Parts: sequence; C-alpha cells; structure tokens
Amino acid sequence: GEALKRAGREHPHDIRRVHVVGAGTMGADIAMWAASKGFVVTLQDQKPEILARAMARASAFCKKRLKDPRQVQETMDRLMPDLAGHGLRRAELVIEAIVEKIEPKQALFRMIEERAPATALFATNTSSIPLEVLAQGLRDPTRLVGLHFFNPVEKMQLVEIVRGEQSAEAALDRARAWTAAIDRLPLDVKSSPGFLVNRILMPYLLEAVILVEEGVAPEEVDRAAVEFGMPMGPIELSDTVGLDICLSVAEMLSGPLHIDVPARLRELVEQGRLGKKSGEGFYRYT
Ligand code: NAD
Repeated sequence: GEALKRAGREHPHDIRRVHVVGAGTMGADIAMWAASKGFVVTLQDQKPEILARAMARASAFCKKRLKDPRQVQETMDRLMPDLAGHGLRRAELVIEAIVEKIEPKQALFRMIEERAPATALFATNTSSIPLEVLAQGLRDPTRLVGLHFFNPVEKMQLVEIVRGEQSAEAALDRARAWTAAIDRLPLDVKSSPGFLVNRILMPYLLEAVILVEEGVAPEEVDRAAVEFGMPMGPIELSDTVGLDICLSVAEMLSGPLHIDVPARLRELVEQGRLGKKSGEGFYRYT
C-alpha cells in the first residue's frame, strides 16, 4: 500500500477523467474501482441493461466496502453511466473492455480516435489480442498501451502494462503512473502471446477442463487446487472469468502456445452457459 502511494507521488500523472467502454465483468469493475480512487469516470456500453446492472453492482460494492455514507455518495457521484459516450470528448484516459474479438475492438478504437481529445491515452484490457493488431486502424498508434486488469479487480493487485511495438515511452509512463495512483501494481510486459499471466494461467485452466472432459468431477478438480493453496479452483475460476472469454482467449493463444481448445468449453459456450455472468457454466449459480 505505502509503496504504491509513494510510486503515485513520484510519478505524477495528468489524468483526471477516465472513460471506460464495455460495462461487463471487467469494465464495470475497473470503472467502479477508478471512481472509488477519486477519478471521474464515464462508463459506456451498447446495452442499457448492462449499464444499469453495472451501476447497481458498483453501488452495492461501495456500500459494503466504504463505511462512511458520504464516501459512498461521492464515489457514486463520480461514476456516470454514459450510453452515448459523451465522456469520450473530455477523457484523458480511455480504457477499452469490450468483447475479446479483433474487428469490434479495431472499429471501436477508430471511433475513439475520432472523438477523444488528441492528448488522451488509449488503453485496452485485451487478454490475448496483440497490441499491434488493435493499433492497426489508429492514425497515431503510439498512444495505445495495454492495461490488463485481473478478475476480480478489487482483489487482484496486479495490472500488466503491455508494451506494443509502437507504444510510446510517454504513454507507458502515464499508464504506469495512473495504475499506481489507483493503488494497483503495474508490471511491464511485452505484447507477446498471453503476456505473462495468461501464458501460465490459460494452459492451467484448459488442462483442468480437459480433466473434467475425462470424467473427473469439477468439484474434485477445484478441491485439489484449493488444498494445494489456490484461492479458487481452476473450474470455478473459468466460470468467474466467463467461459466465452476463456474460449476467445484459448483460441487466440492455441497456435502460439501450442494448446488444444477443449471441446467441452466450446459446447458450454454454444449452450449459452457462460459461467457466473449467465447463471450457469460448469456450476450453477442462483
Ligand atoms: P463481458 O462479456 O463481460 O463484457 C463485454 C461488454 O462489452 C458487454 O457488456 C457488451 O455489451 C459490451 N460491448 C461489446 N461491444 C461493444 C461496443 N462496440 N461498444 C460498447 N460496448 C460494447 O467481457 P469481460 O469479461 O468484461 O471482458 C472484456 C475484456 O477484458 C476482454 O478483452 C477480455 O479479454 C478482457 N479481460 C477479461 C477478464 C475476465 O476475467 N473476464 C480478465 C482480464 C481481461
């Protein structure tokens, strides 16, 4: 905590207003976390009901975590649902957290570049798409970096700061400083497949799914991992991440990391069983 605060002071940054696009599992929590740390945050999604759910989740989280009702009110005042994306025009930092697919992300960044201030820093929360691919449509690809948060945002200290081939040093500096300012721990990584964490995590999660395919009960796999010391077993973690996200990431990484995508994962996604966010994945959630 103290070290991070010091880092924040030592690397002053110029970011006050943050615009987050995508209010799903990650975007909603990133936005809420940034608002709780004093930033003015606009949160955009294409679906109004998702925005409403994100605001309800943020409010519940604040009430639980911040004891002082005034602090709850102030945090929620700083977090604004923004269906039309008005916040883009004034943001110093834009964070993209939409579906893990190349074309929608490229199209979104083109739109962002049209509307955001010329000095705004652009960040993507992608888990597996090379930064160079996402930067392709940008007139100025030097302003794009990866800010790769982990799930759940409020518990996971680490944020990978992803350096694309074209990312400017100044952009990386700003990203690191802002990450420290929200009390997270920036870790520099290259834009290589899976960066650092997912390069290790994805083969582990997928191997656990293969065990289930082979007939081991999900509960048994998870129990073994928890007894080993993991805070959560790999099957429950896959449900938490979202099975559609797991599948997209697995598909992106299967070539470079030489991993097979388990058929079970594809089947569950095809059935709409996406994990905790849809109420059912490997487990049922009520
Ligand atoms: P999600 O499916 O929960 O949410 C994505 C949201 O984006 C949806 O609400 C959708 O309505 C919205 N959206 C899609 N296209 C849009 C557009 N053009 N404009 C505005 N909104 C749009 O996904 P998620 O799990 O939050 O993942 C988001 C990103 O974060 C992905 O790139 C993923 O790889 C990455 N990521 C996910 C995790 C995780 O644990 N789930 C962890 C780290 C990084």
